[in-house]
Amino acid sequence: MSLISVGTMAFDSIETPFGKAEKIIGGSATYIAYSAVNFVTPVKQISIIGYDFPEEEMEELKKRGVWLDGVQRVPDKKSFFWSGRYHADMNSRDTLVTELNVLADFDPSIPENYQGTEFLMLGNLHPKIQLNVIQELKQRPKLIAMDTMNYWMETAMSELKITLRYVDALIINDAEARQLTGLYSLVKAAQAIFRMGPKYLVIKKGEHGALLFHENEVFFAPALPLEEVFDPTGAGDTFAGGFMGYLASTDDISFENMKRAIIAGSALASFCVEKFGPTRLKEISREDIDARITEFKNLVNFEIELN
Ligand code: AMP
Repeated sequence: MSLISVGTMAFDSIETPFGKAEKIIGGSATYIAYSAVNFVTPVKQISIIGYDFPEEEMEELKKRGVWLDGVQRVPDKKSFFWSGRYHADMNSRDTLVTELNVLADFDPSIPENYQGTEFLMLGNLHPKIQLNVIQELKQRPKLIAMDTMNYWMETAMSELKITLRYVDALIINDAEARQLTGLYSLVKAAQAIFRMGPKYLVIKKGEHGALLFHENEVFFAPALPLEEVFDPTGAGDTFAGGFMGYLASTDDISFENMKRAIIAGSALASFCVEKFGPTRLKEISREDIDARITEFKNLVNFEIELN
């Protein structure tokens, strides 16, 4: 099985209580790819970059099994740029700058060798572009998952609602679920989101873990209590990449397997936050990931006898 990853490949400037990083590599599709390749290859990337996106980063991705045929380079424009500042709790942040640059006129075309891919992860991007990708695929993937964020809710809500009709799974954070539905209760928000189209919903709650909803079932996965969260940027995309990469590698989209995929995604996200940008994701091995998944298992595993 293989996975298509769609989203931004970008530069980010980040401020956390621990320090600042200027113009480092980021972007939703970058994180998705670095995460998913730990479980499945190839990861077929769809994105757009400007003249300034480093060739070494492209080589780094290629080396790990990411196909870049679907990444357009615009020679006379800058790459997407985002800047954010985290609050002291590291769970919430303010966006300081969003410069669309190359993204403003992105019209993705799907390379022929991407057709027939079974899993599709639509990373954070304009919902119209996310829908274009679905419509360009000649065969509907077995599972289409999608991420979005407040920026698109504020600038393209009606397009977002249309795209939602075509996806199987929505992966967002708690604030986004509330903003999308206008409902505070996440259980009520889940039911409202099911009425918009998706059959599965993952709600990420930062250091408080993640919830998976499907029909009347719900599963909860904790986040690993880490001594230090250095930079949460990309944790959501890394989670999504791990989740979809795991599902693609096992080719099983049952609710039971989605529970395992949530743990896989959470394990990857727990590495992502340990250093600025995708740095930590490039260092880890399969053994590191397996050890961390075992830590998750131990964290929630207990025995109790009931009379
Ligand atoms: P996350 O922390 O998982 O929400 O993802 C952060 C990444 O998303 C950063 O690397 C940004 O470059 C990218 N990003 C920020 N805003 C947007 C946006 N409006 N559309 C697409 N990608 C974005």
